[in-house]
Amino acid sequence: MAWDSLPNALLYLWSAVFGAVLGSFGNVLIYRLPREQSLIKPASRCPHCGHRVRAFDNIPVISYLILRGRCRDCGAPIAVRYPLIELASGLLFLGAAIGFGWSLATLFYGLLLVALLVLSIIDIEEQWLPWVITFPMTAIGLLGSALGATLPFIDSLIGAASGLAFFGFVALLGFIVKRETMGGGDIVFGLMAGTFLGWEMTFFMIFLACLLGLVVNFHLVIFVILRFLKLVRREREIKPIIFGPFLSVGTALVIFWGDEILSVGTTLALIAGDKIAALLFKIFW
Ligand SMILES: [Zn+2]
Repeated sequence: MAWDSLPNALLYLWSAVFGAVLGSFGNVLIYRLPREQSLIKPASRCPHCGHRVRAFDNIPVISYLILRGRCRDCGAPIAVRYPLIELASGLLFLGAAIGFGWSLATLFYGLLLVALLVLSIIDIEEQWLPWVITFPMTAIGLLGSALGATLPFIDSLIGAASGLAFFGFVALLGFIVKRETMGGGDIVFGLMAGTFLGWEMTFFMIFLACLLGLVVNFHLVIFVILRFLKLVRREREIKPIIFGPFLSVGTALVIFWGDEILSVGTTLALIAGDKIAALLFKIFW
């Protein structure tokens, strides 16, 4: 039987469930990686009473609802972020299934999307993009292209080299001017994203991430300009911008709508270019 003759509803259900299960493992990563705990042992315990979480109480999202957000043993509240992360992972994987249908691409891009969510949360909380996630995901990205699920294998390799080169170059610049720009986390993120996106979309993803970062941190941009113009005197320490979430959102956008965003962007740039040219023409002629 051909894959695509199976009903899509089955694919969507399966994907959402699989994504939620991955999200459940994502919760383990988010909690244990920064604490340098083993990912396998011990089994999950209630942080309040220390009782082991039973297998049937460990079903993503559902268990939280059945238990009404409380530990079965001691009644202590369970943080709502756990089911929320499981739910978000399920929805991301479902999104991959809607985008790519019955194909291996759904599996590979779904995995990447859940990894991006986990990386974003760890980066926000710890300012850290762990290699324990980005290196294995690089291998998965290469496997995806080798199996013909995502890109041609050579594009995947060139993409990886481009991501590595870009972030490595920025890190090197930072090293030269003695200012921390990109960490090792970003460099391996670039490597990972490149294997899934190819070089053109990797650069476009970085551009989108910078744009998003600028928009969200616009108050910082204003502050820097004001300080440059010496309109503010107060020295305020500017914390480095947490870049992982922007890179992640950029990657997700490019996976789903890379070509569309690029063509809308090009059209807008052309229109703007025309308008500016017409304006200059009016002024100078
Ligand atoms: Zn408990």
